[in-house]
Amino acid sequence: TTASPGAEAPGTVVIDAVTKHYGDATAVDRLSLTIEAGEFISLLGPSGCGKTTTLRMIAGFEEPDAGDIRVSGDSVLGVPPYRRDVNTVFQAYALFPHMSVAENVAYGLQQKRTPKSEIRERVVDALDLAQMRGFADRKPTQLSGGQQQRVALARALVNRPSVLLLDEPLGALDRQLREEMQLELKLLQSRLGITFVFVTHDQGEALSMSDRIAIMRSGRIEQLADADTVYARPASAYVAAFVGQQNFFRGTVVEGGAVDSAHSLVYDMTAELPVGSTGLAAVRPEFVSIDADVAARASDASNTARGTLIGVSHLGETMQYLVQLGDDQSLIVRRPTPDAPQLAIGDAVVCSWRAESVLLFPADDAA
Ligand code: ATP
Repeated sequence: TTASPGAEAPGTVVIDAVTKHYGDATAVDRLSLTIEAGEFISLLGPSGCGKTTTLRMIAGFEEPDAGDIRVSGDSVLGVPPYRRDVNTVFQAYALFPHMSVAENVAYGLQQKRTPKSEIRERVVDALDLAQMRGFADRKPTQLSGGQQQRVALARALVNRPSVLLLDEPLGALDRQLREEMQLELKLLQSRLGITFVFVTHDQGEALSMSDRIAIMRSGRIEQLADADTVYARPASAYVAAFVGQQNFFRGTVVEGGAVDSAHSLVYDMTAELPVGSTGLAAVRPEFVSIDADVAARASDASNTARGTLIGVSHLGETMQYLVQLGDDQSLIVRRPTPDAPQLAIGDAVVCSWRAESVLLFPADDAA
């Protein structure tokens, strides 16, 4: 996986064949990952896939059972958290309620016996970075959730770590605030040039901020790539299902590339699966068009499916349609709201999509 110890730049994090068990359960399973200095990387996956355990091992709150972790070139095994060149921002901010914002941010430096004048300067800097300078004298109870999260961020940044670890830091915020903070965090990270390792189960959050996303499954990395790649070329049905949304069709692969299902799907021929094996064809809701059944179907679409509209939801920018195709197959369709057709529940509809929009995966129970 990696270069030899000592050869890595400050801010580089190398996870080298790390395993962590809790009793019989394997939380992290021979995981290897090199995070570049200054990179924004997200660990993404469903609950229990090992994201937090991985982060806690980098932080030093847990020790691996096997493998090595290096930060800025040096192994951190056995090094206590406060002596590692990393800081963590948690979802539960754990601010001291009886201390002011400035005192909360200063606390760690005081423990390290940093000179008072330096503390003052660094607290002001950290509060500036978190856009909380005007709140220095408030108590945490006098702050909103978003402001408390900013204080938690300032408290981590005041240590000037090479690596910032963020464990679902925006999880407690409402959606609008979360989206604002995503933009801000990304800006802050690129301005500071420090490494961010961000744990989330929210794919939108990972897609919007990360240079690369590590999609985890059962303590391992299923795919490591940038957002475009993870969206357009997911490595497996598991990734395809977790990032964005997919319609899956299960069927047998036949000669010529089609999956022999009731809906005569055609898939992209670049996918190689043995004839006779079970495949999962996937198409995203946003690649499917929908019309009343009387309308002519789009001429460049090689897949057509007729069905009955059973649901319509307004999602803001898009309209979402749920179409029943057969007894055991439904199809989700999304159209941009300005071009969305006017359809009513119970209408006969025809859905169509292009062969290039279809991905084919080996059958996978996780999808
Ligand atoms: P979540 O998003 O729910 O936090 P996660 O992907 O971060 O999930 P982990 O918290 O790393 O997952 O947990 C991975 C596995 O290890 C899970 O099966 C979990 O139950 C188990 N686990 C984690 N911490 C402990 C612990 N302290 N004791 C026992 N089992 C644990």
